[in-house]
Amino acid sequence: MAANGKKTAKYIFVTGGVTSSLGKGIIASSLAKLLQSRGLSVTIQKFDPYINVDPGTLNPYEHGECYVTDDGAETDLDLGHYERFLNTPTSQANNVTTGRIYFDVITRERRGDFLGKTVQVVPHITDEIKSKMRLLGETGEYDIVITEIGGCVGDIESLPFLEAVRQLKFELGENDALVIHLTLIPYLSSAGELKTKPTQHSVRMLQESGIQPDILVCRTEHPLPPEMRKKIALFCNVQPSSVIEAMDASTIYEVPLLMKKERLDQRALYMLDIYDDKDVDLDAWQDFVNRLSNPKTTLKIGLVGKYVELHDAYKSIAESFIHAGAVNECKVQIEWIHSEHLSPENAADMMADLDGVLVAPGFGERGIEGKIAAVQYVRENNIPFFGICLGMQMAVIEYARNVLGWSEAHSIEMDKETDWAVIDMMEEQKQITNKGGTMRLGAYTCKLQSNSLAHKIYGKTTISERHRHRYEFNNRYREDFAKSGMVLSGINPENDLVEVIELANHPFFIGVQYHPELKSTVMNPHPLFVHFVKAASKYAQQKREITELVSA
Ligand code: GLN
Repeated sequence: MAANGKKTAKYIFVTGGVTSSLGKGIIASSLAKLLQSRGLSVTIQKFDPYINVDPGTLNPYEHGECYVTDDGAETDLDLGHYERFLNTPTSQANNVTTGRIYFDVITRERRGDFLGKTVQVVPHITDEIKSKMRLLGETGEYDIVITEIGGCVGDIESLPFLEAVRQLKFELGENDALVIHLTLIPYLSSAGELKTKPTQHSVRMLQESGIQPDILVCRTEHPLPPEMRKKIALFCNVQPSSVIEAMDASTIYEVPLLMKKERLDQRALYMLDIYDDKDVDLDAWQDFVNRLSNPKTTLKIGLVGKYVELHDAYKSIAESFIHAGAVNECKVQIEWIHSEHLSPENAADMMADLDGVLVAPGFGERGIEGKIAAVQYVRENNIPFFGICLGMQMAVIEYARNVLGWSEAHSIEMDKETDWAVIDMMEEQKQITNKGGTMRLGAYTCKLQSNSLAHKIYGKTTISERHRHRYEFNNRYREDFAKSGMVLSGINPENDLVEVIELANHPFFIGVQYHPELKSTVMNPHPLFVHFVKAASKYAQQKREITELVSA
């Protein structure tokens, strides 16, 4: 802590090698959780090597979900893990891409800031990377900043990031920065052996970039015997106690507990010269993992979307169900339903055994008639319904078509010519032509109608939720909807946009224009998910009772 009360941050860099998908984000989040449990103030940032300025313009099939922060940044889905583990918000500064770095450097070059100099990868790009790596640390809010470097060591596009880490580690000095390298120890079943060679090569490649890792976290399907740890240590130039075993876990939420057993946090603190002999208190976390591992019942929730082949496209929704399931002591089994395969004719067959249905966010025309068919089926059959963003908009269209009798009702997003635009383009969006970063993004306040379902669920009338959309409920039709039983229970007080819809004569039917899934964390499960799961649980119980009565 500096004299002015500001914290002086220390830096931990997390790199990965051998293959992608080893879970750097989960290891970084788990370490951060352990350090946070010791009372340290920690944040995690991710540096991604691709050229897009942010992942907002990426198709979900390419990169999974785009995670939106309170300040409206469109970011990598790993930031969702950071927030879910740490229960603290992230911001634009927590996610930087190569595209962003070049964009900022080139903008400065065009302004003439480089005074006639040749602008080069080293030092100009690496300086920009370093200054962005230090940005959060310089706020004085954090004891520790963990920086995850996306991609794998050896990738051409990661080189400037690694060069920046090399320089920064040297500039910061021994006790203020360390590098953790996540690697894989594969098991060859034909030989019946774990193999260390890929790790040796991966570390060597890191060393070629001038970086000596301080700690190795080794992903493995089988325990690492002590002699193997010694061998890895010897070949990779680290202490045996810095070789950390990361066994496959049954849930990502178990990883902080595994890392605690492996003393990853203690090792990191020792190397950063931070003295702390406390035992980490992870009781609440352990409690959550226990509830998660011992569900009393299983619920089937249909998730209707058009990107269901790639579950990562709905990462935060799936995680929110895990949190809400644990609260309700049940396992939420997601039935992934492709909206293009659904129609009014087969909706009953495809959805009959579900206990609740969530219609997912999305963009564009593909699959929307299937989403509308799903809403009609659950509305008419009193099955709990939860619509998010596009899911809410589809519920509005379904209601207009089938209850108000406006058969041509549509969203202007899908039918530009419609005379029945119950979902219209927002006024502020009409002049915008650029696609990147131009939606209604980030946190907005919403007022909930007293005694509405939403009010009961949140337990308060003023909420703040995150947004990512261009279209909205058309206020021209508000009265027609309200008169026929749709409650417009959440309104943005500043621009009078409808944020929440619900049906008075249905056991649980709620649609929200915002993305509640972005705010559900382990320690703070989102009330909408918790109550939706509760409603599904009640519905499942009623179904069981009816079956018992019939068969008695
Ligand atoms: N496509 C819709 C809009 O832009 C919904 C967006 C979403 O589901 N995130 O308004």
